[in-house]
Amino acid sequence: MARARTSKAEADKAKPKNAVEDLAAESPWPNASVGVADMPWLRAPWDRFLSMHRQDRLPHGLLVTGALGLGSLTLAREMAAYLLCADPVATPGAERACGECASCRLRRAGTHPDIQLLVRDGANKDISVDDIRTLIESFSLTRYGPLRVALIEQAERMNRSAANGLLKLLEEPPPGSLFLMTSERADLLPSTIRSRIQRLAIAMPGRATLVDWLTLRYGLATEEAELLWFIGDDRLMDGSPPAWDWQSPTMAWVRLMTERNQVLPVVKQWQTMDRDVLARWLMRLWVEVMRMHSGLPTEAPASIQPFIQKLAGARSKSHWLKVHRVLLEFLQSARHPLNEELALDRLALDLVDPDLPARLA
Ligand SMILES: [Zn+2]
Repeated sequence: MARARTSKAEADKAKPKNAVEDLAAESPWPNASVGVADMPWLRAPWDRFLSMHRQDRLPHGLLVTGALGLGSLTLAREMAAYLLCADPVATPGAERACGECASCRLRRAGTHPDIQLLVRDGANKDISVDDIRTLIESFSLTRYGPLRVALIEQAERMNRSAANGLLKLLEEPPPGSLFLMTSERADLLPSTIRSRIQRLAIAMPGRATLVDWLTLRYGLATEEAELLWFIGDDRLMDGSPPAWDWQSPTMAWVRLMTERNQVLPVVKQWQTMDRDVLARWLMRLWVEVMRMHSGLPTEAPASIQPFIQKLAGARSKSHWLKVHRVLLEFLQSARHPLNEELALDRLALDLVDPDLPARLA
């Protein structure tokens, strides 16, 4: 990361960025101005993909797993672009789609017949059975090139019937087809689908690597970079502040734990948030509370530490251990279309008294 930049390195760097920006042009996803070449932790999965491709061992179904903020969408998009390109750059360490051949031009124009995109276009929008039907129909058409790619971003957005439809395709994949999926919650995919696809995992880079990267790339102060690392939402790689306010839900939780009659106001505050974001955030804070109870130093940046201390001081360790189960259940239900208010009411009550669900059962 601290590599010296010569003018040659600058020139080399400019090229892959253009190729990545080409992808951004066809995408509603705002993060695509950062490419695989810009994120050192994507190198290992990218190399594994190249090696599978060279040895002609690419499976019909490939699932890129890892947090959204780590660039799983970027990686999958660049893989699709590379596979469709007629003349990819083969320079070791700089492999990428050329961005200029007829196939790349079609892809950039969004009219390539061999790529079907089920992209994330709006928060947690479901993938319906109709989306999958359209996909199936496109796979019955004649191919333009040697390979047809379906790119399914955040595959966990598939509802049950969509997943069943996709399963049929995966069971008997048309020759020359690749189903490229991304997911940060692969556990939410049906096991029948998981058993038919190969995984390509993006490992979480260490805190120091990521904080260094963010400070160098965006000129952030260390504290700002640490906050982004800690929150870890999908805008992490943009270097922009999180899309949601972390303080309000955190203060609400502290209030809930210290003043037990605060259930309704807390539910009201949490209702303003995306439930999945809330679930993951509470879980993140819980980990820090447990670290504190175990005498380990907290990983939270200085601005978050006072909240962790208040939470840790509010209840005993045994209370917090039970809270883990409550949070897990909420996290699992976070994407289910339950009645929003009821789910949050139940969460708040369970957090105040984690023995309550057992007594009710
Ligand atoms: Zn090309």
